[in-house]
Amino acid sequence: MSGRVVLIVASVLVLAASARAQHGTAPTRMDCARMPCAEVLPGAVRFEREPPSTASRGPDGPDGATDVGYAVGYAADGSRVGWVALSNELVDVPAYSGKPVVVLFGLDESATITGARVVHHAEPILLAGIPEAQLTGFVAWYVGHRADESISVGQATRRGGAVTVTREVDGELQPQVFAAVDVISGATVTALAANRTILDAARRVGREVGILEAEAALRGRFVADGEPWSWARMEAEGVFGRLTVTQEDMGLPPRAEPFVDLWFTIADAPAIGRGLLATGDYDHLVAQLEPGQHLLVVLGRGTSSFKGSAFVRGGIFDRVRVQQGLEEVQFRDTDYQNLGRVAAPDAPRFREGAVFLTRGGALDPGRPFDLVFLGSHHDSRGAFTREFHSFPATHQLPASVYFVENPPEERTIWEEAWHRRFVDVIALGLWLFLVMAVFALRRWTFTSAKVLAGLHLTSMAVSFVFVGVYLGAQPSVTQMLTLVEVVARGGDPTLFLVEPLLFVSWIFIAIVSIVWGRGVFCGWVCPYGAMSELIRKVADLLKIRRFELPDRIHGKLRYLRYVVLFALLASFLVSATVGERAAEIEPFKSTFLVPFWKREWFFVAWWVVLAVASFFVFRPFCRYLCPMGAGLALFGSFRLSGPKRRNFCSSCSICQKGCEPRAIADDGTIDPRECLSCMECEQTFNDRDRCPPLVGLDRLMAKRERGARDEERLAKLRRDEERVPWRPGR
Ligand code: SF4
Ligand code: SF4
Repeated sequence: MSGRVVLIVASVLVLAASARAQHGTAPTRMDCARMPCAEVLPGAVRFEREPPSTASRGPDGPDGATDVGYAVGYAADGSRVGWVALSNELVDVPAYSGKPVVVLFGLDESATITGARVVHHAEPILLAGIPEAQLTGFVAWYVGHRADESISVGQATRRGGAVTVTREVDGELQPQVFAAVDVISGATVTALAANRTILDAARRVGREVGILEAEAALRGRFVADGEPWSWARMEAEGVFGRLTVTQEDMGLPPRAEPFVDLWFTIADAPAIGRGLLATGDYDHLVAQLEPGQHLLVVLGRGTSSFKGSAFVRGGIFDRVRVQQGLEEVQFRDTDYQNLGRVAAPDAPRFREGAVFLTRGGALDPGRPFDLVFLGSHHDSRGAFTREFHSFPATHQLPASVYFVENPPEERTIWEEAWHRRFVDVIALGLWLFLVMAVFALRRWTFTSAKVLAGLHLTSMAVSFVFVGVYLGAQPSVTQMLTLVEVVARGGDPTLFLVEPLLFVSWIFIAIVSIVWGRGVFCGWVCPYGAMSELIRKVADLLKIRRFELPDRIHGKLRYLRYVVLFALLASFLVSATVGERAAEIEPFKSTFLVPFWKREWFFVAWWVVLAVASFFVFRPFCRYLCPMGAGLALFGSFRLSGPKRRNFCSSCSICQKGCEPRAIADDGTIDPRECLSCMECEQTFNDRDRCPPLVGLDRLMAKRERGARDEERLAKLRRDEERVPWRPGR
């Protein structure tokens, strides 16, 4: 397949991406008339949403106000049973798909979760290979647990899809093995995200309604160094958070100057307070602070004011607020003092400044907090609309300003995934590095056909048992599909980091495919490919005859895998669900990730068919069907180096006969898309006892020494002994 054809097909697919249908839309608001509220709060027959909270103003409701995101459930006798909430209204924890798992849950007076139902998710893996019931089961597991229990999705077991959940019971952490979500690509992350979604949302409701204590402030202190810091030092130490909203963000025509560009910090520390405010002002304001209150300094540039044109004395600053977890701090005029000029002489000019006393809520200076700018969008004519957008920027004071004793570790989902699998990542990385080193140094490592065969066999065995069965690190075409989607639709690239073992594997695949073609991965490391070849080796031991298709059929059939690849890509771009489902043509999940008894019968049957075929045919799936192998073959078509060849290889067919993937053509050339880099042909190339032309050459030389001469034949063999010059993709 020529590069141009591939390019055209790829372009068509990328264009198709823009037409791709979205997953169904997630509900943004709980509606007990349409949602099973009574099921998640047993005993409740009537539900009433709480009235709008003035502290929770937002862009969604009338006048930018939202209600608090939960409903109270009442029994038939009018007594309160508990609360029902939709996680989407309370927290936003992106899962594997980049979108949250939306859960409807109930909470009783003792902060115990009374019911939990997934009402929407866009997890492609779950939609594809794993019954919905498993995600439902995972979420339902939280029923009966208190919202303030310490529950975390822990180290996944190797096989069987179990997830260990650590629970804190009576102050002690107790591990529990909970088999609910299969640990396959993406599903571990789904479990992590679902765990955080349920707990964070339930805790938020619990705190709002007063059945849970607010999060304790971290013990810490402002650093007492009294010398005012210069602006340059404050900037260098990371004192300021920054929130920039562009003109385009607000629906306005682009301009060099942003709509607002806010620099903000908590200025209680004397060095900061005196660096920003006149000393007298600082002392006066600090004297007013009560426990739990702080000085928030906001400095603004840009074409608009963060104080808001609607701000009037006696009113509320509706354009900025501070949020930290459940706490939200809204500022009134009584909390405000104008800051006309920054005290530090080297400070840049700002359009405006303000010092706010954080009286409206408890702000913990030891934790990250958000400054949120709320602005009304403009229409195409540049007029204000009633469409409010909020723009948050997170900031945490540096330790040089606020020192926290024993700060807790806060990790993103992908950081947590890397932390959990750190040892596995190192082990896999070392293994892949070793394979690469053995291959790169093959002049010294492949010293004989026997050594080469031993190394190859060992590599396949380790890859099958350690990489596949133990680590479950089988790369799949689904990651290729996701890559296409991220490129075509501008998805979140950190998606690839959430599965650290696959991420490391793909780095390896990219390197070896460029340098040596796909063969180093497919031939030496791919766990399923290794299993398939090992099955054939067992068949050899059992003296089971190998079956090979006639050239004519094989020549056509080997293109089938490209058809499978492009069909998959097209279906994925039209619908992720269909694409993921179609990707089940890969038997990888059944082999390494999900036990047979948890799979539908047809997946098991497909696995058995391929395994049985592997007894009789060399790597049938790899050679004719594997879409990932096809993708790698295209990618590795232009490999930088391949097995060495001599001119006389074209007239000798010994390597061709020995090449199990049938990668060597009649003229002795190698097809890099078919070659599995077993390196047997190169071994023969170097072996003066096995390579027939070399044997002939040596014989003629010996004869010549004995006086017998056949100069013409000798000269030809010597000429043909020259290596075929390198060219890309050979
Ligand atoms: S062709 Fe597919 S299954 Fe075979 S080794 Fe390559 S990636 Fe693995
Ligand atoms: S024999 Fe040579 S051409 Fe055939 S798979 Fe092995 S390395 Fe590739």
